[in-house]
Amino acid sequence: MGIIDQENNERTYTNYMKYEHNITKVGWIILVFLLLEDVFARAVVLNQSIALKVIIKHGLLLCIYIALSIFKVQHARNAAAYSKGKTFELIKSLEIIVIVVFISSMYHSAFFYFVALLPITFISLTKGFRRTIPYILLSFIVQILSQYIVSTWLARSGIGNLIRDVKYLIIISMVQYVLFTLFCYIWSGIYNEYARSEEENNILIDRLGDKYVQLELAKKEIQNHYEKQIETNNQLEEANKKLTASLAEFYTLQQISQAITSIFDMNELLKFVNDVIIGVMGAAHSTIALCYGPQNKLKVQVSSIFDKKDLAIVSDYINCDILKPSTEEGHSMIDNAVNEEDYPFTKGRNIKAMICVPLLAKGRTLGIVLIEHSIKDAFDDENMRLLEVISQQVSIAIENARLYQQMHDLATLDNLTGAYNRLYFNDKLQEEFKKAQEGGHDLSFIILDIDHFKKFNDTYGHLFGDLVLKTLSGFIMKTLRKEDVFARYGGEEFVILMPYTSLEQAKEKAEDLRIGVSQLSITDRVVSASITISIGVSTFPETAGRSQELIRTADDALYEAKRAGRNLVRVAKARNK
Ligand code: GH3
Ligand code: MG
Ligand code: MG
Repeated sequence: MGIIDQENNERTYTNYMKYEHNITKVGWIILVFLLLEDVFARAVVLNQSIALKVIIKHGLLLCIYIALSIFKVQHARNAAAYSKGKTFELIKSLEIIVIVVFISSMYHSAFFYFVALLPITFISLTKGFRRTIPYILLSFIVQILSQYIVSTWLARSGIGNLIRDVKYLIIISMVQYVLFTLFCYIWSGIYNEYARSEEENNILIDRLGDKYVQLELAKKEIQNHYEKQIETNNQLEEANKKLTASLAEFYTLQQISQAITSIFDMNELLKFVNDVIIGVMGAAHSTIALCYGPQNKLKVQVSSIFDKKDLAIVSDYINCDILKPSTEEGHSMIDNAVNEEDYPFTKGRNIKAMICVPLLAKGRTLGIVLIEHSIKDAFDDENMRLLEVISQQVSIAIENARLYQQMHDLATLDNLTGAYNRLYFNDKLQEEFKKAQEGGHDLSFIILDIDHFKKFNDTYGHLFGDLVLKTLSGFIMKTLRKEDVFARYGGEEFVILMPYTSLEQAKEKAEDLRIGVSQLSITDRVVSASITISIGVSTFPETAGRSQELIRTADDALYEAKRAGRNLVRVAKARNK
């Protein structure tokens, strides 16, 4: 309550000071105007000789009024002084006295009393009717006294009738003050009503203000909530995107690893991987090239490029310098603004973006994966990272395949001559014999042995003997068909299994080999020599009915050839059916 009182007080004070200032300013002007009017009335209209005295008296009162006004304004600057207000009330009373005396002494005072009443009216407006009553009484008394004095003075000066004037003025003043008091009462009532409703309005505005602040706060809180929710939503969306990408990646890698374990043919596997890469990367083309030979030259292994001419261009330029960071240094490359001049393998294909990732195993480059797109900026680092992960898997598969090949070679090949070993040959013989038996086709078998090899070894040494074995093997391998199986059967004994070959054809082949070998010149830095071979030939079903019989009968024929003088071909005898 205290605070509200204080607030109301301050409001009243502010209003009051506003009126007070205006009244004071207007008061000065009115008094000056009244002074002039009185001088005019007395001097010009009535031709009274007391005009100067009246001017001096009025001027004096005006000066007092101005002085009081200034003092009042100075004093009332302080709101506390206003609210406690004894001095202020005194000044106000003096002000009223001055004005009342001023007007009472005017010739037309009866017309201008309302001016003296104006300040009191404003007191009723700002401080209420009750506070106005003392001022009204004060004004009334001063007016009666003042008028009495003025009338006495005028009567003495021979102007007017004292008794008549006083009676007349008292009656007018009383009527005037009664009316004025009533007027103040009504006015203050209206004003109080107005002030009360304004008070209520202010309270309502205050409450509304509080509500507004509360609403503002609630709005801010909701806004914060909303922003947080949006942020969380964005984070969730981001996480979802990453999860989807990770899932796609996981699925792709799972597909590839499944392919690695189920597709044994390396080329088939690379084709599959190539297709997966195109699918997952959305690339226009994908090409896998592997390194071959001592110089590690790239050779295109699989590619999605369909056009033969385009593929030939890629094959021709796949070893170009621009890809060296990948092929030689093992770095991934990405270029989203490909210039055809710099990448000769893209010639005529309108390629605008590419990624090249090396296939690495134990620090060695096995090959590259090259993906291309016809749109600029088609790839990002995420594409490159995924391609690198795929390449790692493929590299492991390639490396494993190579190791498997090495192991297979070790297990099946003779390491001196490069021909198959006897173990592998025996398996192959069973396989081919079964096929020939089931298919009803010929299967020929040739066995050959170097003549007097012991002596050869003794003469030129074992190392030269080894060179003879290698040269002989190399020569024979070159003359054979893809489906023929050539193996080292013993020390210097070799065998050849020839599917779909008749006894006659095999004999011819044996004869060619015999002659060819005899014409071979085997040389190392110091020695040059030539050898001869003896050959035995047998064929299923003509000379042998079972696989072991093939070997036995051919071996018998070889023995025959040796016995007949060597450097000869002998054919097994026809079987008794
Ligand atoms: P023939 O004409 O009767 O076949 O006479 P030959 O001297 O060739 O007799 P044989 O077949 O019994 O001799 C085999 C010789 O082959 C014995 C061995 O010194 C030689 N030999 C076997 N394996 C190797 C090898 O890996 N390197 C070398 N340098 N010689 C081998
Ligand atoms: Mg032998
Ligand atoms: Mg021999």
